Amino acid sequence: MNINEFSKGRELFFIMEIPSRNPVQKILMGPGPSTVDPRILRAMSEPTIGHLDPDFLKIMNECMEMLRVVFNTRNQLTMPMSGTGSSGMETTFVNILEPGDKVVIGVKGVFGMRMVDMAKRCGAQVIEVKAPWGKPLDPADVRKALSENPGVKFFADVHAETSTGVLQPLKELSDICKEYDVMYLADTVTSLGGVPVDIDDNGVDLAFSGTQKCLSCPPGLAPVTFSERAYKVLQERKTKVQSWYLDLTMIAQYWGQERVYHHTAPINMIYAFHETMRIILEEGLENRYARHKKNHGALVAGLEAMGLKLIVDKEYRLPPLTTVYAPEGVNEAEVRKQLMEQYRMEIGGGLGDFKGKAWRIGLMGYASTQANVILVLTALGNILEGMGQKIDKMGALEAAQGVYRA
Ligand SMILES: *Cc1c(COP(=O)(O)O)cnc(C)c1O
Repeated sequence: MNINEFSKGRELFFIMEIPSRNPVQKILMGPGPSTVDPRILRAMSEPTIGHLDPDFLKIMNECMEMLRVVFNTRNQLTMPMSGTGSSGMETTFVNILEPGDKVVIGVKGVFGMRMVDMAKRCGAQVIEVKAPWGKPLDPADVRKALSENPGVKFFADVHAETSTGVLQPLKELSDICKEYDVMYLADTVTSLGGVPVDIDDNGVDLAFSGTQKCLSCPPGLAPVTFSERAYKVLQERKTKVQSWYLDLTMIAQYWGQERVYHHTAPINMIYAFHETMRIILEEGLENRYARHKKNHGALVAGLEAMGLKLIVDKEYRLPPLTTVYAPEGVNEAEVRKQLMEQYRMEIGGGLGDFKGKAWRIGLMGYASTQANVILVLTALGNILEGMGQKIDKMGALEAAQGVYRA
């Protein structure tokens, strides 16, 4: 029997056995992906054209120009990479690091750990600066690591640590990097489009993000930006970039003047990206940050009025992602299951030190609305009450509404 005969009899079987997909709409309020703006899904259904078509090249240029505004940078090398947020992380690491290089990395959650893994795969020597889960790095620890380890190529840290809900202030760490003449690399996956990143003003040399968090796109692209200094380090490498696919020495020629083919751009994802940039600029960056802050404030007021305890200290809380302890004795996974069954709403469970003990509630981009805040508080209140918990359900809604009335 050859492969054709093998396949033939199965065609009908599979067509009958495999139903067409029909996923229902859900409210995505976890750590990502977040609910996608319907405008972006419509943009994705526009006709696919060639990756060197002049019409497409124009769209690419506009994407880069708008992305510079959203990152708030003049960096020439600023564009979306093909792949999810992690490909952006890998892009910054593989393009800068050569075997034997020394780096200092902040580790205060899952994504700092991922950066350590990537740096080691590049053959780098890694010095870790740690903070307990749920806390930011102590700048004094970063200073100590840089002073004890001369010749560090960059210091890398997660701006918005999605595994814990911590927002690490950028400026105080970049000032320390400047003192030691070390480049600063920031993971802005959950901050870009939700809280200010201000790359140039904050002295960040390398940053990456992802489309599926505060940009409200499907997962699939990773915006990156490299300062002049970082670009120079890339151009002066002694060895080839160890990843062919993420090699910016080649990709920059496709996005730049030369337009040399490297890999086929994911055309329809770029349409989505173009639309998300337009949506952000239409709303205005300041308005967008204020909206994320207000909805987060209302959520926090509601959760606290309900009697729940937040994980992160007030000044380091991340507006797009709120982490909160589940009440003692409550099975947090069961609550998430009921949220999905009864409300078609997804929130995240705790990770690492908070596994089984906490929730991660996202209010990112399109999903950061007053309606979603009221809905999640109502739903959590109902479910916890149903489990016999004594919580102040009405007080929670009143507290949240109070923030909007203010
Ligand atoms: C989600 C996330 C990533 C990884 O992005 P993927 O799209 O899952 O590859 C990296 N860093 C942070 C802080 C994130 O939240």
